[in-house]
Order: sequence, then C-alpha cells, then structure tokens
Amino acid sequence: MTPEPILYTFHKVREQSEQGKAEAWRAFLDFYGPVFLHLLEVHAAIPSREALPLAKKMLAQLTSNNFARLRATPRQSEREFLGDLRGLLLEVALDSDFFQNSQPTEESAFTLEKIGKLLDGLPLLHKEMLVFRLAGYTENTIERLMRVSPRMAEKAFERLAGEYAAARQTEHDRCAWPAAWLRLLKQARASKTEKCTPGQEIVRIHDGQVSWYEKEPVEKHVSACLHCLDAWTGIREAGYWRMAAEPLSASQISELLEAIPVEKGPAKKSFFQRLRS
Ligand SMILES: [Zn+2]
Repeated sequence: MTPEPILYTFHKVREQSEQGKAEAWRAFLDFYGPVFLHLLEVHAAIPSREALPLAKKMLAQLTSNNFARLRATPRQSEREFLGDLRGLLLEVALDSDFFQNSQPTEESAFTLEKIGKLLDGLPLLHKEMLVFRLAGYTENTIERLMRVSPRMAEKAFERLAGEYAAARQTEHDRCAWPAAWLRLLKQARASKTEKCTPGQEIVRIHDGQVSWYEKEPVEKHVSACLHCLDAWTGIREAGYWRMAAEPLSASQISELLEAIPVEKGPAKKSFFQRLRS
C-alpha cells in the first residue's frame, strides 16, 4: 500500500505555503502558476515562454522577509487571494525590463479620467465587458469569462473607436497597449478609498450569495469606481483562469520553485510513513 497523497485545497496551500513547506509550494505552483502566466500573456502581452522570469520575480517578492507579503494576502477565498496576487504580478510586470523604455505621455488615452468617461453611463455588465476588451480579451473569451454573450454589449463596444479602436481588432487574448494599460491598472489600484468594496464581498456577489438589497449599493459603487471595477473584473478573470488554464510542466514548476525559500533538509515523514517505521 502506498501512502495516501495529501489532498491540497486552497486553505491548506494558503496555510502551509507561508510556513515554507515544499510540497505545499508545489501544489501552489500547480494551482496558480498557470493563472500567473495567462494574466501576463493577456495584460502585459508577454508570451508564457518569456513570462516565467516575471512570475519568479513576483514569487520572490511574495516570499521575501519570511513570507511577509504572502501573510498579508486574503485567507478566506481563493479568488480574492488570486485577485490580490494579480495586482502584485501586474506591478512586477510594469516595473520589468519589458516596459523600461515606455514613458507615460501626457496625451495618453489611458488615464483614470478618460477611461471613466469612456465607460460613463453604461450598465455594470457592459462596463465589465468593455474593460475586458480594453485588456485585450476577444469576444469568444469574454463569453466564457462572463457566461453571457458579449453581443449584448455591442452598442457599448461601439465606443471603442479612435484611439481605442485596436481593442476591437484583437484575434488573440492580448492587450494592444500593455504599458499604458498596466500603468492605468496600477493607478486604479492606488485610487482605493475607505468606501471601496472588500474582495470577499465581490466574490459573494459573483456567486449569487447576496440579496438584491445588499447587492444594489455595492454594484452602484463598483460601477462608479475604477479601483473596484478592476478588482471586480480581476477576481472574475483570475477565477476563470484557475479553472481553464492548461497546467504547467514539471520543469516550469521546478523553475518557479527556485524563487521560493522552501524548507531545506529531509521532508518530514508523512503520517502513513511514520506508521510503518
Ligand atoms: Zn471603490
């Protein structure tokens, strides 16, 4: 009889990874590594074969100083947790060599004010779809992300004209203006106020666990706040890639593991191995 494999869940991975347990980290990278690579491929327009060093850099930041940043991540919900890591990952990408030579310009179409105007007056669902299109998602992927047809937002997509027109021409899930886009998302994250919606609340609304009366004021806020709209779409897409992304290879996982200060020395014997010794 072989020892039972440990069944990892989000909660177990979240708890044991901050203790530096190597097996928990393998599960962490197996679960979430593909999400990181997909997010970089879409928002930063970096193909996954080139994105591994960025994911490593993010993991190094997450785990440095005795896992300080990791300890500050949400513990209750996997999607809320992934939404937080997404923010860290996209900031690491923006600060990387890929975007060294791109300076923000005064006339950028991607300021909080201009994007606010672009979205103004639309229902939240249409805003969300428009944000996904600006991020680079094709209509096909948006349909899978949202589980409703993006055709219903056709009228809203007509706003993607002029300097935003490239968002309507994407054939692959890839942002047409990654540097400006990542900079905008960073500004959106920084614009958080005390009125902003906790990630946990967003997850509950996405899961339909909130009554209309509770939901209505939250959705109203999200609809008017680019910080919360980014959190709202980010939680949705991270949850989607968690289910849909292709797994990493063993060698990719080993490479990512190099960035993490896992416990050294012989692994502790499992419960079943102890029974037999
Ligand atoms: Zn807000």
